[in-house]
Amino acid sequence: MRKKIVAGNWKMNKDYTDGLSLFSEVINMVKDEVRGDQQVIVCAPYIHLHSLTALGKGYEQVSVGAQNAHQETAGAYTGEISTSMLASIGVEYVILGHSERRQYFGEDNALLAKKTDAALKSNLKPIFCIGETLTEREGGTYFDVVKSQLAEGTFHLDAADFAKLVIAYEPVWAIGTGVTASSDQAQEIHAFIRKEIAAKYGDVVAQETSILYGGSCNPKNADELFSQPDIDGGLIGGASLKSRDFVDIAKAFN
Ligand code: 13P
Repeated sequence: MRKKIVAGNWKMNKDYTDGLSLFSEVINMVKDEVRGDQQVIVCAPYIHLHSLTALGKGYEQVSVGAQNAHQETAGAYTGEISTSMLASIGVEYVILGHSERRQYFGEDNALLAKKTDAALKSNLKPIFCIGETLTEREGGTYFDVVKSQLAEGTFHLDAADFAKLVIAYEPVWAIGTGVTASSDQAQEIHAFIRKEIAAKYGDVVAQETSILYGGSCNPKNADELFSQPDIDGGLIGGASLKSRDFVDIAKAFN
C-alpha cells in the first residue's frame, strides 16, 4: 500500500524561534492525533533544518525536508546548499521543481533532472513538483505540460530510483490563491500521472507511488480531496504555518 503523506512547505516564512515553536506544536499534535501509518513532513527554510531534525528525533512519523538543493555535490557555488549537506544533518526529503523555483529562479526540467540525481545520490527522497499555469489550463495543454515535466525531470531514472520519489501535483493557478482544484479536476490529473508512471515503469511502481495534491488545500477541503482514489495526500503552503490547521489537514485520513 502506498504511503499517505501530508507535507508542509513553509516557503520563506518563520524566523528561528517561531519555526521551533511551530514544529514542536506539530510534533505534539501529530503523535496524539494522527494515524500511525501516515507520514507528516515539514519542509522548512535552511536555517531551521538542523534544529528540527534534532527536535524530531524519535518521532518516526514526522520527517524534515528542505525546499531546494543544489545539483552539484560541493564546490565554488556561493550561497548554495548541497544534498549531502542536508543529509548530514538528518534531513530526509527535499522539494524539487516547486513552481516558485521554476518561475522565479528559472529552474527547468533539465536542471531538475540533475537535482533529482543529486538528491538520490545523497539518499534524500525528492518531492518532485509538477503543475500547469492558468494559461496552460485554459489553453487545454495541461496534460502535455504535466507529462513533459514528469518525463523530462524524472523518467531518466531506473525503476528502483523512481520508486523513491514522491510526486506533487500543484496547479500554479491554485497556489496561494484560495482557488482549489475541484476534487474531480485533481483526481483526473492524478490518475493521468499514475497512468504515465505505469506506462514507463509498470503497474507495481505506479501503484506504490504517492502523488500529493497542492494548492490552497485547507482543513475544510482536505477530506474530499484526499478521499479521491489517486490522491495520496497534500503539499500544504499557507495552512502549514498554523499547527492546528496543518495537523487537521493531516487528520483528514483518520
Ligand atoms: P498554498 O497551500 O499556500 O496554496 O501553497 C501550496 C504550495 O505551493 C505548497 O508547495
